Amino acid sequence: MEQIINEIKKYIPEEEIALNEPMKKHTTFRVGGDAEIFVSPSAKEVKKIIEVCNELEVPYHVVGNGSNLLVSDQGLNGVVISVRKNAEYIKLNGDVIIAGAGSSLAKVANFAAKEGLGGLEFAAGIPGTIGGAIVMNAGAFGGEIKDVLVSAKVCTKEGKILEIEAQDLELSYRHSCVLEKEYIVLEATFKLKEADKEEIFAAMDDYKRRRISSQPLNFPSAGSTFKRPKDNFAGKLIEDSGLKGYKIGGAQVSEKHCGFVVNSNAATATDVYELINYVISVVKTKYDVTLEPEVKMMGEF
Ligand SMILES: Cc1cc2nc3c(=O)[nH]c(=O)nc-3n(C[C@H](O)[C@H](O)[C@H](O)COP(=O)(O)OP(=O)(O)OC[C@H]3O[C@@H](n4cnc5c(N)ncnc54)[C@H](O)[C@@H]3O)c2cc1C
Repeated sequence: MEQIINEIKKYIPEEEIALNEPMKKHTTFRVGGDAEIFVSPSAKEVKKIIEVCNELEVPYHVVGNGSNLLVSDQGLNGVVISVRKNAEYIKLNGDVIIAGAGSSLAKVANFAAKEGLGGLEFAAGIPGTIGGAIVMNAGAFGGEIKDVLVSAKVCTKEGKILEIEAQDLELSYRHSCVLEKEYIVLEATFKLKEADKEEIFAAMDDYKRRRISSQPLNFPSAGSTFKRPKDNFAGKLIEDSGLKGYKIGGAQVSEKHCGFVVNSNAATATDVYELINYVISVVKTKYDVTLEPEVKMMGEF
């Protein structure tokens, strides 16, 4: 352990390395055990961390803002690479925006709006990073990352830096090939369209209002817990199954929107995990529909 810490210290400032860091501080569910080593590299420093982990055969995990993440109560062994606070930048070139993977998606959308560039309105209110948004092909209100992404700069698991065209990222509903290929997203290039600023901001305000009125934003969660099943809605199936408000420990099916599992009172990751599985089994029995979690699990369950 000391060896890897000493190696990492050669490449990133000591204050960006934390030991036994509680992952509940880094997930919007506010659950999860400790990360053995938690590092916050810049986009350029990620490559070095990967090389060190490979050389010393230490496992690593990549996290953004943790807004689609359920981390095990047992925590995470090895190195957690937080691509967030030190990988945040936004550059503008005409109607093209280049953003560091750690930039907040909502901030990039806001920046675009101020420049009179439309296409990212849907992102208002999605609390992820640019990296997490590409991994998930984040979307809402009829828009998604796939519509505006030109390419992404990634670091491969071998530590190679590649620029990958959007069409090669296999972007589809809440999916990309980033996790399968074990890429780490470092930067994204978006092409947007000139549009009327007032109209862009009006659309974003409308989306934000619709979120506030329909989503349980007063409780920690990871947004929609399940993917939308074909020709159906997860929230409706769960509500019709009689599970509105159903609780396991501190985890609860939201009373406001049944598609959200929320941390209603000091939940553990196990509570959330068990509730997700319970909901899946009840909906399967009642409607013969298999719900698939949208939330990514990390660590042992
Ligand atoms: C209140 C609320 C509302 C939400 N609404 C929406 C919505 O409308 N639409 C929507 O699509 N999502 C929504 N989400 C879910 C979430 O915000 C998105 O999925 C977001 O894109 C996740 O980004 P993140 O940075 O938080 O990723 P994380 O949760 O940190 O990670 C998600 C996955 O991506 C991987 N990952 C993260 N960063 C990188 C990187 N740089 N390189 C490689 N892998 C990486 C992680 O390993 C993990 O597997 C919502 C969540 C909340 C809490």
